[in-house]
Amino acid sequence: MSNLANKVAFVTGGSRGIGAAIVKRLAADGAHVAFTYVSATDKALALATTIEEAGGTALPIQADSGDAAAIAAAIETAVQRLGGLDIIVNNAGVSVFSPVDHAEDTLDVVARLHAINVTGVAAAVRTASKYLGDGGRVINIGSSFADRVAFAGFADYAATKAALAAYARGWAWDLGKKGITVNTIQPGPTDTDMNPDNSDFATTIKAGLALGRYASPDEIAAVVSFVASPDASFVTGATINVDGGQNA
Ligand code: NDP
Repeated sequence: MSNLANKVAFVTGGSRGIGAAIVKRLAADGAHVAFTYVSATDKALALATTIEEAGGTALPIQADSGDAAAIAAAIETAVQRLGGLDIIVNNAGVSVFSPVDHAEDTLDVVARLHAINVTGVAAAVRTASKYLGDGGRVINIGSSFADRVAFAGFADYAATKAALAAYARGWAWDLGKKGITVNTIQPGPTDTDMNPDNSDFATTIKAGLALGRYASPDEIAAVVSFVASPDASFVTGATINVDGGQNA
């Protein structure tokens, strides 16, 4: 268990899946955690209640990551309500199946994908960097598809996740002299609403994993917890695969 007592964390997309596991884990580590969601108000409020009942602090904020002003405002709210910012986890993301040779025009879909997965993250880090100080942490949730796409139809999604890894390398230089680390964690297939572990496609995916199974969201959150912790103080600009050997 990491010791994040008195740290303030901000997690995007914390109402479900990997983000919810990250919120729970950072709260269990002792951090005060603000998190965003876009539509699952019931799940966001239930998660916050669970954390508060366990003695932690959780602040759900509705904010669409596809709206740069909204994500910036959410960070300002978190800073005001929780008294600062030490850790930002850019987890909110969407996936689309968009083969480039599809007849229909899917560029509007691609634009929305980039707005949420890339521009929303760039906006968040611009605002967060006003408040992060020595020991601060920026953690992007990328994807194993950034390194190897593996299936047709995911080029647009993979490109957004490759952008996050590149951003982390660049931001590591921008923020390193202030003692702030910036890293990207690249999950492989993880059992969530986005990628449930019970479809025919999941059977195909598992055949391509060294471990032969999906991750649980908690297994991704455990690595986020480490990177957020003081033990990871010399890890920056890194791309950390947590992919069950998908890209081994
Ligand atoms: P889910 O679809 O299960 O959950 C997505 C979360 O992000 C929800 O909390 C959702 O909020 C939130 N969200 C979605 N769109 C927005 C938005 N526009 N603004 C704010 N929040 C939003 O996804 P996962 O947990 O599976 O994925 C989390 C991250 O991990 C993503 O970045 C994804 O690309 C990445 N990833 C996932 C993998 C997997 O196999 N599951 C593999 C590799 C990477 P709400 O509940 O309100 O809809």
